[in-house]
Amino acid sequence: MNINGKAEQNNTYDAIVVGSGISGGFAAKELCDNGIKTLLLERGRPVKHREDYPTATLDPWEEENAGRIPQDVQEKNPIISRCYAFNKNTEHFFLKDEEQPYIQEKPFDWIRAYVEGGKSLLWARGGQRFSKYDFEGPARDGYGIEWPITYDELDPWYTHVEHFVGWSGSKDGIEHLPDGDFLPPFEMNCVEKDMKKRIESAYSDRYLVHGRCAHLTEVRDIHREQGRGLCLARNLCYRGCPYGAYFSSNSSTIPWAEKTGNLTKKTHSVVHSVIYDEEQGKATGVRVVDAITKEMTEYYARIIFLNASALNSTAILLNSKSNRFPDGLGNDSGTLGRYVAFHNYRGRLGGRVEGYEDGYYFGRRPTGPIMPPFRNVFQQDDVDFQGKYLVSTGASRQGWGHAINDSTIGTELKKKVAEPGPWSVYMSIQGETIPKYDNHIRLSDDETDPWGIPQLITSVDYDDNDDKMIKDFLEQGEEMLDTMGVTDIWTSDSEQAPGLDIHEMGGARMGKDPSNSVLNRWNQVHSCKNVFVTDGACMSSVAEQNPSLTFMAFTARAANYAAEEMKKGNL
Ligand SMILES: Cc1cc2nc3c(=O)[nH]c(=O)nc-3n(C[C@H](O)[C@H](O)[C@H](O)COP(=O)(O)OP(=O)(O)OC[C@H]3O[C@@H](n4cnc5c(N)ncnc54)[C@H](O)[C@@H]3O)c2cc1C
Repeated sequence: MNINGKAEQNNTYDAIVVGSGISGGFAAKELCDNGIKTLLLERGRPVKHREDYPTATLDPWEEENAGRIPQDVQEKNPIISRCYAFNKNTEHFFLKDEEQPYIQEKPFDWIRAYVEGGKSLLWARGGQRFSKYDFEGPARDGYGIEWPITYDELDPWYTHVEHFVGWSGSKDGIEHLPDGDFLPPFEMNCVEKDMKKRIESAYSDRYLVHGRCAHLTEVRDIHREQGRGLCLARNLCYRGCPYGAYFSSNSSTIPWAEKTGNLTKKTHSVVHSVIYDEEQGKATGVRVVDAITKEMTEYYARIIFLNASALNSTAILLNSKSNRFPDGLGNDSGTLGRYVAFHNYRGRLGGRVEGYEDGYYFGRRPTGPIMPPFRNVFQQDDVDFQGKYLVSTGASRQGWGHAINDSTIGTELKKKVAEPGPWSVYMSIQGETIPKYDNHIRLSDDETDPWGIPQLITSVDYDDNDDKMIKDFLEQGEEMLDTMGVTDIWTSDSEQAPGLDIHEMGGARMGKDPSNSVLNRWNQVHSCKNVFVTDGACMSSVAEQNPSLTFMAFTARAANYAAEEMKKGNL
């Protein structure tokens, strides 16, 4: 590797953002909106909205291998093959296992998308705000540190993000599932509407509401300005949406930032580490390895936003060693890389619903209903586990497969195939896991990746608390399905490894006390204030909500704060 000694001036910007995914795209947009000359560094290839969605409009008969991944590819890529969204139509956005090796001290399915837009191209787009109880729960019940910010402080930033992104949902008036600036919700089908009635009349503390998601169910001026259009409920989102109807960095924040004239974007740029200047006592830039030539270049800026996704931003800090920070930038507390948490996704159950056969639904709705938490919300309830869980649920009619299951052939079979099958329902858990010191990542001392960067070691696991939560969910779920008259109920514990939930968080947590956290209430590294971390690495706890909306809200808040501080000359 050579150090490229290009004139410092040419490589100097006001701000550097590392990573162009959900949070990095938002950081770039907010900084550029504030007139800040911003360099966006992305390790993957460029992905241009519409042009680079090769499978977006394929009909089923045009799909290679009927959309299936060939066996040899699955065998070579066991980790990514376990992700439900990985198939022939989406393969080009995912990182293959062999492309960036890491060391699993304990099994961890790390699902990555190293392309411009990151996982914003692939996400399922569901998301709820954290409630005040999500922020207060960990310290109140003693399973985490106190968050340095309150719900009320983040509330306007949630609104800011929802307004720009376009978030569909219903205003349900539930205190622990705060409403937002919503577009109209998708409709529940007839079985779900009945499910809602039955559950809400049987339990005073349980609600079934529309899933809230980043889809344009109505196009407002702010979305027209982004060149985005209405969601047609094709549910082919994971291939990239040519209408820009679901939110991705590629359709929304990056082109918006580009239009300001303040953005410089460099792809194939793998950030190696942050440069810390001992004399100035602050960071001055980043070291970047060219993904193709492996040449190293330095870029400089007054502020740096790390948005490379939770584990990668943490890894960059761990790899940023100096005399002042021998164990990684900002690691005075020894907590960098620690308290990695994720979502408990193991439990699932379902069953068959009799009747409703004269009812159907229109389109392929890209989301389903959810049930906000009912355990440990307002206090630690009398249950044997800590933390809350949310239930994702839904009802649908079986497709043509139902007709193949019996011995019908010929014309009868054709007729049957054209009819929808019986109704079934499912419930799955999205549970809060406890941030623990032992659940950690660190860098290998001897193994490096293809860019000469130390490989990441993952040492993260489920625990006894998670097992007890799953047991409670399966018992409660069975009882609820029974209340609804569901038959043939099945329950399952997938026993999947952490990571497959794709909601990994922590590693550089926020906190009031620099002795037990890495970031302050503005997402600044406590001991190096011009470095901000606003992706999932910052999360002090993970609650039970899909997290990306919260990453965006933190990012928008921190970016606007940074802009103000720069104007005041404080950064
Ligand atoms: C199938 C699937 C379904 C999901 N569903 C949901 C959902 O419904 N709701 C929800 O809230 N979340 C969901 N998620 C998770 C969501 O996608 C992530 O939480 C979110 O994308 C994280 O945003 P981020 O900016 O931290 O990281 P990413 O979006 O992953 O972006 C990180 C970017 O940084 C780049 N990068 C990494 N390292 C470096 C480096 N060293 N130098 C330069 N660039 C680097 C990457 O290439 C990438 O482009 C889902 C994810 C997947 C894959």
